[in-house]
Amino acid sequence: MAGALMERLAAGEAVIHGSGYLFEMERRGYLQAGGYVPEVVIDHPEVVEQLHEEFVRCGSDVVLAFTYYGHRERLRLIGREHLLERLNRDAVAVARKVVDRHPGTILAGGTCNTNMYDPGDPATEATARAMFEEQIGWAAEEGVDYIVCETLSHLGEAKIAIDVCNRAGLPLVLGFAIHRSGKLRDFDGSLAEACRICLDEGAHLVGFNCHRGPATMLPLLREAAGEVDPARLCTWAVAYRTTALQPAFGALVDDAMPFPEALPGGLSFPVGLDPFQCTRYEMGDFARQCHELGLRYFGGCCGTGPHHIRAMAEAIGRTPAASRYSPDMSKHYALGTDERLLRHNRDYVPHFTATPARPG
Ligand SMILES: [Zn+2]
Repeated sequence: MAGALMERLAAGEAVIHGSGYLFEMERRGYLQAGGYVPEVVIDHPEVVEQLHEEFVRCGSDVVLAFTYYGHRERLRLIGREHLLERLNRDAVAVARKVVDRHPGTILAGGTCNTNMYDPGDPATEATARAMFEEQIGWAAEEGVDYIVCETLSHLGEAKIAIDVCNRAGLPLVLGFAIHRSGKLRDFDGSLAEACRICLDEGAHLVGFNCHRGPATMLPLLREAAGEVDPARLCTWAVAYRTTALQPAFGALVDDAMPFPEALPGGLSFPVGLDPFQCTRYEMGDFARQCHELGLRYFGGCCGTGPHHIRAMAEAIGRTPAASRYSPDMSKHYALGTDERLLRHNRDYVPHFTATPARPG
């Protein structure tokens, strides 16, 4: 089937994937860190709709139904398993409202790691398959254009998701979560080899999402792009400053935290990551580099806000609606250059900036 995503990609157009809903909704007070279940879809769908709207306004081409961790294992954990089907169908309906308001945007269904799949226990294959079948089945019935399956760390689990999508007749965009080890949990070959296997099995795009920020995601992409057609690669990175020593956000250590004992388990991940937040400029540069590398599907994952997405869209030459409000420091009361600004405020600048430089 030639859906909207396939048409865009066939035309060589870039597709910007705005997401990161779990972290954003947790910050806003609409879901609980830990379980990370998208209960907000049931409890406050208007908030989900608004967040979708903000990402699209800032340049996201994709409206991904908020069903990440809206699967049986997670719903059971919080005692709301009876709401599973409703949550999945409602999430697509909410996303569709935003797509309908914005011609050219694409409606995607979402699924992710089941947390049940265990390569050492063949019985779990059927469990994982059943979980994919129900989420992907509901999304297909609700009319999504394609499926996003993300943060998988097992090749075996990816193959199951690919097969379920193939049977449903929907294109699949697949993202592997690459933790600090730099490897998948059940595959000793290279990441490029894993990507090639997934493409051979029928995934339409494959790559890496979550866990890594731009600095440690790009090297993986460059390596994979040497062996796999970059137009078949995809990525949506976390908006955090991961480093060579701390390549995934689970490993980030905040040495400046004045009372580290307050962090759950002593870890900055996942709710003390604020000091590592990427600026919009870093995410914009990430988009530019992905585009130059030949990728045609990229975006932001955990930690990403609408302003990051706007910077990413602008970095590849677009002007989404929210570009109307992109920064213009010439109007700042003290840092600005507009001749109507008062001299005494402009002269005060050295007292509060690191340098007296003004934007040129
Ligand atoms: Zn993420």
